Amino acid sequence: MEYKKNQIVTVTIEDMGNDGEGIGKVDGFSLFVKDAVIGDKVEARITKVKKSYAYARLENLLVPSPFRVKPKCAVHRQCGGCQIQALSYEKQLEFKQKKVSGNLIRIGGFPEMLIDAIMEPMIGMENPYRYRNKAQFPIGYDRENNLTTGFYAGRTHNIISNTDCVLGISENKEILETILYYMKEKHISAYDEVSGQGLVRHVLIRKGFSSGELMVCIIINAKNLKDGKNQDFWEELVDALSKISNMTSVSINYNREKTNVILGQEGKVLWGKPYITDTIGSVTFRISPLSFYQINPVQTEKLYGLALEYAELKGTETVWDLYCGIGTISLFLAGKARQVYGVEVVPQAIFDARENARLNGIKNAEFYVGKAEEVLPEKYGKEGIYADVIVVDPPRKGCDEKCLETMLKMCPEKIVYVSCDSATLARDLKVLCEGGYELKKVRGVDMFPGTGHVEVVIMMTYCGSDKKNKR
Ligand code: SAH
Repeated sequence: MEYKKNQIVTVTIEDMGNDGEGIGKVDGFSLFVKDAVIGDKVEARITKVKKSYAYARLENLLVPSPFRVKPKCAVHRQCGGCQIQALSYEKQLEFKQKKVSGNLIRIGGFPEMLIDAIMEPMIGMENPYRYRNKAQFPIGYDRENNLTTGFYAGRTHNIISNTDCVLGISENKEILETILYYMKEKHISAYDEVSGQGLVRHVLIRKGFSSGELMVCIIINAKNLKDGKNQDFWEELVDALSKISNMTSVSINYNREKTNVILGQEGKVLWGKPYITDTIGSVTFRISPLSFYQINPVQTEKLYGLALEYAELKGTETVWDLYCGIGTISLFLAGKARQVYGVEVVPQAIFDARENARLNGIKNAEFYVGKAEEVLPEKYGKEGIYADVIVVDPPRKGCDEKCLETMLKMCPEKIVYVSCDSATLARDLKVLCEGGYELKKVRGVDMFPGTGHVEVVIMMTYCGSDKKNKR
């Protein structure tokens, strides 16, 4: 049968795709249905037809799934922020566990029996809401041209108004409403992406969960804050924001580019400190508006704890932490290792990593700026660097081939791989296995409840017979 756009099809949802969309089959033809969950029988409206599958959206829920729950957020369907809030949390974890094992088996080529035997249960959250320590809210206009903020609808830049996302901190509401109030009061415009006109682009809010400290950074379409211009607005706004309990840093950031990149490179502190602090385990981090920092601190501690557990450090080891960001994992491991080396491509992150090491009195951690696939081969070629354990935590695209190749040459006893994309993880593990490593441990950590994303930590050991020759 031929399917057409806008056609209504009745389908039962049996599986879930990578982004949390429901998958059902009609005569062998797969339908990816937005907002439908496993167990639903639905009428779906087709939005896009491909050769052997089609995209659709939930039109009418005929028989709701027994795993359906009432979402806490009124705009969860329109908003692109989360995808599976309508699924019970238990089922969300089950879905993520299956997604990881499925990728390891299908893409990694690992036997199902092995994965079943070694994979540990997903580490979920006790309370899977209000977990985000950071959010970036676009400021713009709704359909009636009222000034508003919220989140973009999926795949568009239409703002779905919402100042109190249930995944975010409850303080967001007061901060955002204060900013909207003064913008309206003083007739300050929001930035318009099409024309490039208007002043306020985004508001970045961050909280240190352990310190309670709050940071607000307002991103504006200007080169600087010209004296006299909008002076009342800034004075009154900053005064009001500074009175919010636990406010620690109020700043602006300049971004004049026509781009989707939210933050510009330059900024100015208007009140308080240029950073907030947060503590994970026994390490304290300074976080500025531009720093990369994991967004779910409760789960981050569990994630790093798992990486530490899998590294099985005794205190004598040399550890390389590739894709180290601001040195979070490196510094977390430093207390249990002889020496840690971190590699990261963003210079500012390495600056933060060194600063964080100094602040915490950690002397056995050294950091290098550069691409892992360039720094590692160069150091191995020139200095014959050595590692007992290599930890990698790459972005979604996974490790570069050259990086994997050098890891195999260095032949550490253990590799710990922290991944935010189990498909590229599986691809990379296949290469490492072909090079003599054996997969020993796998465990997922749910860093992003309500969404389709999942973080995984694995541990491999070297099992080749030529171990001595390699060293
Ligand atoms: N381990 C850190 C950061 C993980 S995110 C933490 O948990 O906080 C991945 C990091 O890899 C980012 O900081 C990104 O800037 C960095 N990165 C991306 N490509 C890289 C490359 N080719 N070489 C080194 N670092 C890279």
